Amino acid sequence: MSTKCKFCGSNSYGDGCEYSPNGKHEHISDNLGKALFFIMRYMVLETKLNNRTAITDASAHAWNVGLYPIWGKEACLEPFKEFFIISEEKCSRVLEFVMNESLEKRYYNFHDIEKHFESEEKDLGVDRTDLIEILRYAFLGGRIGNDFLSKLLEPCGYPSGATHIEKEFDLGEILFVEDTGR
Ligand SMILES: [Zn+2]
Repeated sequence: MSTKCKFCGSNSYGDGCEYSPNGKHEHISDNLGKALFFIMRYMVLETKLNNRTAITDASAHAWNVGLYPIWGKEACLEPFKEFFIISEEKCSRVLEFVMNESLEKRYYNFHDIEKHFESEEKDLGVDRTDLIEILRYAFLGGRIGNDFLSKLLEPCGYPSGATHIEKEFDLGEILFVEDTGR
């Protein structure tokens, strides 16, 4: 489907729009996609509130914080990919790393994992908040074992915010107005 920039009417994407306030072409379908994303997000979280078991805790956490719910079955995710704050790529690479290393019984504390994503996989742009939310997704999804967890959160091995990783999901966390905070 070919759409036009709402400011200048061209078919181009990205930078170079003479009429848009931020210099970027903006297509109507971008906004429509975003609106549908927020409706989908609302529906998933509302369903969770009404019927706790209809949506897994892992999925509810993911939709709540804007993380791509890679194991989720509650919605067709493909059209919404670009709207998640924590991208599919970040999510799959972090989970892949964690699960592969766990399989080999190689465990790391939080700071070590953070260092890994700041050096070897720097291009991915995973920051501390991303890492905490993705690891919590893995925890809630039952994908990380006790051995992994006790090393991850060993004394002096993690920042204060990381204790959030092993917290059970609470319905009170659900925020309908997305608090992106960044
Ligand atoms: Zn334009």
